Amino acid sequence: GSRLALVEQLVVDVADWPRPGITFKDITPLLASPGGFSAAVTEMVAAAPRDVDVVVGTEARGFLFAAPVALALGAGFVPVRKPGKLPRATLDQAYDLEYGQETLSVHADAVAAGARVLLVDDVLATGGTVLAAADLLGRLGAQVVGVSVVLELGSLPGRQRLEDAGLQVSALVR
Ligand code: IMP
Repeated sequence: GSRLALVEQLVVDVADWPRPGITFKDITPLLASPGGFSAAVTEMVAAAPRDVDVVVGTEARGFLFAAPVALALGAGFVPVRKPGKLPRATLDQAYDLEYGQETLSVHADAVAAGARVLLVDDVLATGGTVLAAADLLGRLGAQVVGVSVVLELGSLPGRQRLEDAGLQVSALVR
């Protein structure tokens, strides 16, 4: 519909950033547009599974969409962060990047066992970030009932990797 067209128009391609040969999808114009930001959140809420208890956002751009989606669904918001940011006991999960490794961290008591969780991020690329977050939530005993992203890079195998792991993926723009 027209809301999705607006979202698509407001994600801007930046050539050769952060490195030559990479095209970065910049969502800051979407955030800066009242109609665009609202359209993205409305569509993510409409696509959400039923009875979500907790919306989990991944640092940092995932927070920006996960928090308003959580409010609209009447769910809680839980941050998954880079290591060393959360003040209390955490569970950590390392995952591979193209070059090197990254770690994600969540408070060990952030999500109750059995909770129905929606994972939210801005961009799905290789799927490594979402899979690491889903692993953390699985270790907490939570049930990841959906993954929602603003944009999916269709040239990368992110969706396939997530679906192979049994995750249901919704993307506003491909
Ligand atoms: P993945 O782990 O390879 O799926 O990469 C997804 C993560 O990297 C997300 O947390 C995104 O915020 C970030 N990311 C990767 N590519 C882009 C991009 O083109 N624009 C914005 N964020 C990106």
